[in-house]
Order: sequence, then structure tokens, then C-alpha cells
Amino acid sequence: MTDDRLLSGVGVSPGVAMGPAVIVHWSLPDVPHRIVPASGVAKELKRLREAAAVVRDSLEHLKERTRQRVGPEEARIFDAQILMVQDEDFLKSVEALIKENQLAAERAFEFKALEMRALWARSSSDRLRDRLADLSSIQVRMLRHLLGESIEMLLSKTDGPAIIVTRELTPGLTIQFDREQVAGFASIEGTRASHAAILARSLGIPCVMGLMSGIDQVESGTQVILDGTQGTLMLKPTREETREAKGRERRRRALERVLQRELTQPAVTADGADILLLGNVDLPEELESAAQHGAEGVGLVRTEFLMVGRTSLPSEDEQANYFERLARRFEGKPVVIRSYDLGGDKFPAAFRPPPEPNPFLGWRAIRVCLDQPEMFITQLRALLRARLKGDIRLMLPLIIQVEEVLETRELVAEAAKQLASARIPHAKDLPIGVMIETPAAALIVDQLAEHSDFVSVGSNDLTQYTLAVDRGNARLSERFNALHPAVLRLLQQVVTAADAAGIPASVCGEMASDPISAFLLLGLGYRTLSVAPPALPLLRWLVRQVRLAGAKRAAKAALKAKTTADATAALHEGIAEFVNLRVLEAGRLPRGKRQTSFKP
Ligand code: PEP
Ligand code: MG
Repeated sequence: MTDDRLLSGVGVSPGVAMGPAVIVHWSLPDVPHRIVPASGVAKELKRLREAAAVVRDSLEHLKERTRQRVGPEEARIFDAQILMVQDEDFLKSVEALIKENQLAAERAFEFKALEMRALWARSSSDRLRDRLADLSSIQVRMLRHLLGESIEMLLSKTDGPAIIVTRELTPGLTIQFDREQVAGFASIEGTRASHAAILARSLGIPCVMGLMSGIDQVESGTQVILDGTQGTLMLKPTREETREAKGRERRRRALERVLQRELTQPAVTADGADILLLGNVDLPEELESAAQHGAEGVGLVRTEFLMVGRTSLPSEDEQANYFERLARRFEGKPVVIRSYDLGGDKFPAAFRPPPEPNPFLGWRAIRVCLDQPEMFITQLRALLRARLKGDIRLMLPLIIQVEEVLETRELVAEAAKQLASARIPHAKDLPIGVMIETPAAALIVDQLAEHSDFVSVGSNDLTQYTLAVDRGNARLSERFNALHPAVLRLLQQVVTAADAAGIPASVCGEMASDPISAFLLLGLGYRTLSVAPPALPLLRWLVRQVRLAGAKRAAKAALKAKTTADATAALHEGIAEFVNLRVLEAGRLPRGKRQTSFKP
């Protein structure tokens, strides 16, 4: 029997949170047409100014929180909005409308904002059109405040930390509140790859996205249990369900603590194979988290996140400083910087090209960089400078042909030439690797390997493009499975070709953080895995339990399987020789075959 109180989505940030739901409509509210008596005009003028001051303060507060919790670059998201909400000309025009027509403040504000929106939308200036998103944000904040529906007001009415329930979670909303105010997030739209999901993960706030049905029944104040590990939202839980959820969270935390203690142990399999475990860094603040979770370097830096909410490109100095910081923190260890992977769902508003019918098959990733050589060369110059400070490497996303690698090499040479003529110290070489994210790249990996220093499988995109299943579509999540026989064959082909060419092959997509898939990857021959930092302790523990010989046997059986289900079963059977995953799934650390004091 299905329980319609249990809504399912995709867990994008682990952990259990419980509390009252607060429904946040991050959209423009309906503003009633309200005329005030002549005697009420002064009050409306005051309300307008007060609202502008409150919204400005909350944006300043948000900016400061973003600066502290994420970084100065991301904090600039809010600059344009802070300027807008204080714009005297605009506020005076709203005041004039209030006085002339005896309009309520919210109605007058709405009129003027609509007027400005129409003007900007018609403008031929890209800059003005880009600012429309900021204008929308101000409009929502001002109108909701004037109507008494701001998030702050809603939260102040709840008892204890709340679970924010919304259609689409924005990065601003994610970052805005303390854990004392917000315990978790639930949204209809969004995926693991969305900025807001990434922020929720790095802030350690449980989050579930893709809650496609049933969410409209949730009313503000309803008690809910959100499970960001399982990807569920339970409405009106019984006492028993609450107790059970608390137990689940306790076990998850206990497991985390135990795994944390294993971090000093070498990542060596029980039969003595060295495995390199690297961290993926999306936001600058994750750098510390990667180090603390035992990363032995960084296998993927998603540089496009340097652009979150910005209206200008990050400068060469800013990028060089960031890359140098990474190099210093991981001294003597590899730091793989990926060139901007813009496009798909990752175009910050300020750089968004005209809409495309198929953005995921469109102008994105390496294509954008090669078509915008100035932007790319700035990044390459920063990389060449930072490489003087450590083992910085470059990695190219969404490669489909050899020419893309060759063109990049030419641009690297050009960047080095520019730096030399300006007498700016820089490295003479820059190792370049390609991401295997398309079937095209996987099928010609031998040819790509001739021009590459390493390859790294982006299993999220490789799965998406091989299966033609949108990785971000919650409705298709069952069909999105990296253990599909077609993906398995490509994974094997890649590592075999890399071995033959004598270059390292790694996996940096999400599949590497799933124990069963990691076991498969070891069995296929991958010796480097790069994952989100919180996934590292479990991975290290797992590596230490298994024997490579067993992993190889299981991988061979998985490759022979005719269905995803059979491949999965073969891997489960293989891994069971070493660990009891059922116990692990229940949140306890299973007693592995191997003692933690093992010395290779
Ligand atoms: C991938 O596609 O697997 C990958 C690592 O890149 P991203 O998730 O940033 O697209
Ligand atoms: Mg990718």
C-alpha cells in the first residue's frame, strides 16, 4: 500500500531534518489594486521607504553571509540588487505615483517595476537585459515584504527550525539562513547538479529536490521529516516515524564519526594495490572540506562556479590566486582544474547566450572556451602562473574530437608566449587531460590519449549522453544508471586504452562515490577516483576492505551481464565477499574482513 504522506524525490544533500514546513513562493505575488484615502498617502510613502530599507538590510546581511560561508566572489551576487533597491530616481518615481494616484505602496511599486522591466527587456543592451533577473529578485522581496509575506516574516512565525518547501531553490535562498532557522530544503525542481544543491551540500543542510507530486498538499506549518539521504519528505509523521527517523540520523552521524577516524589509514586494497582518492571542489570553501576528508589532491575543480551570480568574468589574478591557494593547500599533490564547463544548466545569468532548443547538446563546455579565446586564454594564463606553485593540471570537459585538444594546446602556447613577453613568471608546461563524457570520446579514447596526459571519466555526462537520458530530470531518474551494459563497456574501453597508452585514467563523476560502482571501477582497472569530499571517508574504508582480485572477478561478471539489474546483482554478490552492505546501508559500519591497523 502506498502512503500518500511519503513524497519521493532525489536526495541531493544527506541527513535527516524535521520541523514545520514553510512554503516559500519565490515568485511575484498577486498584488491587489488598493487606493488609499488622501490622509493615508503619507503612511504609504513611509511604508515604501521602510520596505526598501528592510530589503536593503536583508540583502547586505545575505551578502555578508555569502562572503563568510562561500567566498567573496559569490558574495558579489548581491551587489547589483543592493544598488537597485537604493536607486533614488526609481524610488522617487514610485513616490510620485503614490501621491498622484493615492495608490498603496505595493501597487505603485509593482507598476513602476513593470515599466522598468518592459524598458529593459526591449533594450538592445545586453547588460540591461542581464539585470532583469536582479530586478525580479528585488520585486519579489519588496512586494512580499509590503504584503507581509516575506520569508523572514514567515520564519519568525514558526516554532524552531523550519523546512523550506519551494518550487525552485535559488542559491540566494539556500545561503540566506542559519541552521537555527532552516533545518532543510525541499523543492520540486532542481537536481544534484544545480547550484543550490551544491551549496546545500557544502553547507551541510539536508535537501531533497525533484519532489514531483504531492508537494502541493503541503501547507505552511505542517510537520514534516525530510530525509536528504533517501530523498523523501514525510508529511505529518507519527510519533513512531519520528523516532525511527531520529534513529536513522543518529546512526548516519555515528557512521560518519567512525569513518572519519579511518582517514589516516592508507588507501590500499587488502591485496596491496594503491588507490588514489581525490576530492571534487565546486566552491572555494570546499577546499578545506576536501583536505579534512582526506583528499590526496583534487581531481576536479569546477571553475564555472567562480562565475556564480557575477556580472563580470573572474580576472586572471583572481583565478591565479584561487589556483595557487589550491596548490598550496595540496602541496606536492595533483590539483586538476577543469576549464569552464559553461552551458547546459550552468550558464550564470550574466553570460547566458540566447536560448537554444537543446542546451545540453548545444554551445557548452570546451565549445564555449574555444569560441571565446580571450576568456579561455585568461584562464590558461592563470593556470600557467599557478603551476609554478604546485602540481596544477588542466582538464577539458565534453571533448568529442582530437582537434579540441590540439587547439587548446595552441592556446596554451599562446598564453605562455603572452606571459613571457610581459615577463610574468609562469610554468613552461601544463599537463592536459580530457574528460570522457561522450560516447564519441570513449570510442576514440586511443586517439585522444595520443595527445593527452591523462583521461578522466565524467560519468554523469557519459551516462546521460550514452543513454540519452537527461541527468537532471527527476522523472527519468530510474533510467539514469551508470551500470547500464552500454556504459560499462565504454568504461572498460576507456581504461584499457589509457593503460595501453601509458596514461592514467580516473573517474570523477558521481558514480565513483557509490560503493558498488566504486568496486566495479576498481575491478575494471581504475586506480584514481575523485568524489565530493563527504564521500571520501566511506570510499577509503571500502578500498581497504576489498581485494582487487575479487573486484576484477565481479567487474568481469558485470560486463557479461545483459541487463543493468544483472550487472548490479553481480557486483552486489562480488562485494559481499568483503563487506556487508546491508549493514552499512542501515547506517552502521560493518565489521570488515580487514583490521584498520593494516600496513601495506
Ligand atoms: C560529469 O559529467 O560526470 C562531471 C564530473 O562533470 P559535471 O558533473 O560537472 O558535468
Ligand atoms: Mg560533465
